Amino acid sequence: MATGYKVPTLDEFVQGVKDRNPGEKEFHQAVYEVSASIWDYIKDKEKYHRWEILRRIAEPDRIVSFRVCWEDDTGHIRVNRGWRVQNNNAIGPYKGGIRFHPSVNESILKFLAFEQTFKNSLTGLPMGGGKGGANFNPKGKSDNEVMRFCQSFMLELFRHIGDDIDVPAGDIGVGGREIGYMFGMWKRLTSKFSGVLTGKGLEYGGSLIRTEATGYGAVYFLENMLKVRKETLEGKVCVVSGSGNVATHAVEKLNQLGARPITLSDSDGFIYDKAGISQEKLEWIKELKEVKRGRIEEYTKKFKGTEFHAGKRPWSVPCDYALPCATQNEIMLDDAKTMIKNGCKGVAEGANMPTVLEGVHAFLDAKIPFGPAKAANAGGVSVSGLEMSQNSAKLSWKEDELQRLLKDIMQGIHDRCQEYGQSGNDKYVDYVRGANVGGFIKVADAMMAYGVV
Ligand code: NDP
Repeated sequence: MATGYKVPTLDEFVQGVKDRNPGEKEFHQAVYEVSASIWDYIKDKEKYHRWEILRRIAEPDRIVSFRVCWEDDTGHIRVNRGWRVQNNNAIGPYKGGIRFHPSVNESILKFLAFEQTFKNSLTGLPMGGGKGGANFNPKGKSDNEVMRFCQSFMLELFRHIGDDIDVPAGDIGVGGREIGYMFGMWKRLTSKFSGVLTGKGLEYGGSLIRTEATGYGAVYFLENMLKVRKETLEGKVCVVSGSGNVATHAVEKLNQLGARPITLSDSDGFIYDKAGISQEKLEWIKELKEVKRGRIEEYTKKFKGTEFHAGKRPWSVPCDYALPCATQNEIMLDDAKTMIKNGCKGVAEGANMPTVLEGVHAFLDAKIPFGPAKAANAGGVSVSGLEMSQNSAKLSWKEDELQRLLKDIMQGIHDRCQEYGQSGNDKYVDYVRGANVGGFIKVADAMMAYGVV
């Protein structure tokens, strides 16, 4: 260790991050959560401190921010801000989604890119961590407006991405339609056709089961946590939030495994269907959300005996298992306490950081199996990684093969979390610690191999 070097305490380390990144509360929250859970593991490992590994992972390699201007259907010029945060490429090209939502800011994208670095490492695939987006609200915009926005966004982003450099994908507000518009513009600007984005349509290089992968993967992760306890999902009541890509595919897989999902939500409130949201009802929801771009409230007009709770989240509904699949910070401490009191026996995070830190601790203290986002929702990026492999090899793999690979990868992530997260006599697995330590080691060891760069 360098002469005079003093290993910081956790508080000193986190305070440094706060001082260098003022006002970025989501980023502080993410760095604190990861650091606190790996501190015990790294505190006496001199090499990690000497190389300042954690501090370097918490300092993005680069951030680009740019103006995105476009013309709306009434002829007005609109101006938004776009970003790409390239956090760390120690183990592969930067990889992570693009989010279009009015709440997007640099702090949120930095938190997401930081988390993505650990998540991608956990998958076992060669992918670094990144994230991007814009404070653009696709809600209520026409197809043409969305197209013009996506094209303008790519007009700058194309300089910073590439199949061996940075491979973005979808996230909130960015699905197949937006990826198509962005890929079309990238192709036009570069005269190339390659796997520079994932989540592409099947006609132009996309992978089977990419759309389903995050939601399916979250349910597989939950299933793996239950297996440790010799339990299954058969007949279990599940509460799910969100009604987008992740939530609907989580509900689909829950149904396939014999569970009974009873809620879904959007930013207006949640629906409660005691009888269960069957596959048939789910098909209607998918059409409502993806094609008609309608609101979840409409479900109660279509299906009798169901309820809509305006302005609320579904956490007060008693359940066996919960899958938050909408957005960050949607399970607050009081929600977590209510869920525990009502007998919730497990949580798998489909969304990124949906549970506030105090809520996470409440679940861990109650010894409830808690699958954190970076492990439980890694199915999406895993199949994105498989899409990259297929694009490089100019091949398309069959659905059975991809389903098998997704299941295997989720099992591998679960087992890695278990390896680093199991302690104590009661064999309780702290998946938060397991995921953070398991994700950290590979990135850290690669960074040390490169020296100081
Ligand atoms: P979608 O845009 O398809 O759906 C998002 C859902 O969450 C919508 O129902 C939306 O409702 C709701 N929502 C968004 N913001 C809020 C808010 N502030 N309050 C309440 N509800 C809100 O996104 P995805 O399903 O793709 O993503 C959901 C989560 O999963 C995100 O955290 C994302 O980062 C994460 N994730 C997604 C992956 C993927 O493959 N898509 C991969 C890994 C993680 P409304 O329509 O009213 O906005």
